[in-house]
Amino acid sequence: MNIRTRFAPSPTGFLHIGGARTALFSWAFARRHGGSFILRIEDTDVARSTPEAVQAILDGMQWLGLAHDEGPFYQMQRMARYKEVIAGMLEAGTAYHCHTSREELDALRAEQEARKEKPRYDGRWRPEPGKALPAAPAGVPPVVRFRNPLDGVVAWDDLVKGRIEFANAELDDFVIARADGTPTYNFCVVVDDHDMKITHVIRGDDHVNNTPRQINLLRALGAPVPEYAHLSMILGDDGQKLSKRHGAVSVMQYDDEGYLPEAVLNYLARLGWSHGDDEVFGMEQFVQWFDLDHITASAAQFNTEKLNWLNAHYLKQADPRRLAAEAGRRLARQGVTLGDGPDASRVAALYRDRVGNLNELADAMHPYFSPPKPSAELAAQHLTEPALKGLAALKARFEHCAWLAAELGQAVKQTAAEAGLKMPQLAIPLRVALLGLPQSPSIDAVLEVMGRERVLSRLDRVLGA
Ligand code: GLU
Repeated sequence: MNIRTRFAPSPTGFLHIGGARTALFSWAFARRHGGSFILRIEDTDVARSTPEAVQAILDGMQWLGLAHDEGPFYQMQRMARYKEVIAGMLEAGTAYHCHTSREELDALRAEQEARKEKPRYDGRWRPEPGKALPAAPAGVPPVVRFRNPLDGVVAWDDLVKGRIEFANAELDDFVIARADGTPTYNFCVVVDDHDMKITHVIRGDDHVNNTPRQINLLRALGAPVPEYAHLSMILGDDGQKLSKRHGAVSVMQYDDEGYLPEAVLNYLARLGWSHGDDEVFGMEQFVQWFDLDHITASAAQFNTEKLNWLNAHYLKQADPRRLAAEAGRRLARQGVTLGDGPDASRVAALYRDRVGNLNELADAMHPYFSPPKPSAELAAQHLTEPALKGLAALKARFEHCAWLAAELGQAVKQTAAEAGLKMPQLAIPLRVALLGLPQSPSIDAVLEVMGRERVLSRLDRVLGA
């Protein structure tokens, strides 16, 4: 069987964490089975769909590296196809015109509510053998309704939730084309899933109620019914529905906040799916392991701490050149360029295991590329008379010593000893002079990476030379 999955976002907002996880699982399932992953943009809600949201979705998918094999297909470009299918259903008698006016529907609803019944269309225009239909009223453009089976159940074995059944009596003859001819949501999904030969529909469980209608439609079209896997929702850190403060933000915001995509992907992979106790794995491994059997049916809870931990983990392993480029992108926004500073990859390598995200990395790298001014407070505390004397002696030594970490460390030690200072009494003022900060990675490494010219000129600044 050629596995075909799809991700079908509505471009009414960003690609958020829930959507990204749905996309990841659909992508991984196709990859796992050597199948195809299709991207479909469900943009028929013209009032709410925007080109910006389409772009945000494409950007988010690209940032995560979830490449599609086919598409993106846009539903708005498939109108002719939907109309063709509707015409075919009218012809076949699996759909019919309904002329009930808005007022009639309102009256029907009021009656049903008065009787404490669930509001539903009563089938008054549904053709039946031997049934006389009312005369079509003038001036009421008809909608098209699906002829839903009247009795029996529609059931499927959900690959996450197990067997789900709906009584057909609960599903009314829903509208598949509005009076202006535009097809409705459930209808477009069905035609697309059929035309795109989708074998596995993996989506959020907010769609469970659509599934019986979609299955009935597929059957009416004589189409095979795909497998369904409905993913449980993701709760925020606080156990509540995802909110803006807890994960319901654009995937690209994670980029802004300095997360690496591989950390977000690894995190999402474990959000409602497990492979034993494995927590840390790359996408290649994930694709080998991924199955639908180990998706939990219960809601998964977002855990920012774990995401942060994974991010720190991936930062430690990341190629310093890539980290330098990422930090450079961030520093450029603050007007700092890497051009005439020390080797940015080496600076990144000094900090990658000391920071939690790329923004912190950029902050840590900042003073290497724009000479810092120590705060008055730090200067008063650390750039004291004896410290400045020590720094002057150190500078003299730096002018000719070999520029290698071991030698440099030795130079600092020796100078401190000669000046009667303890190591920190010289090393901290040195950090303040070089970086405007009292702490840093090991001072010999900092010196080596910064380079002789830069170190000397920064010392000059505090020595007033
Ligand atoms: N367009 C729907 C959404 O964004 C998804 C439809 C589906 O996956 O069947 O929620």
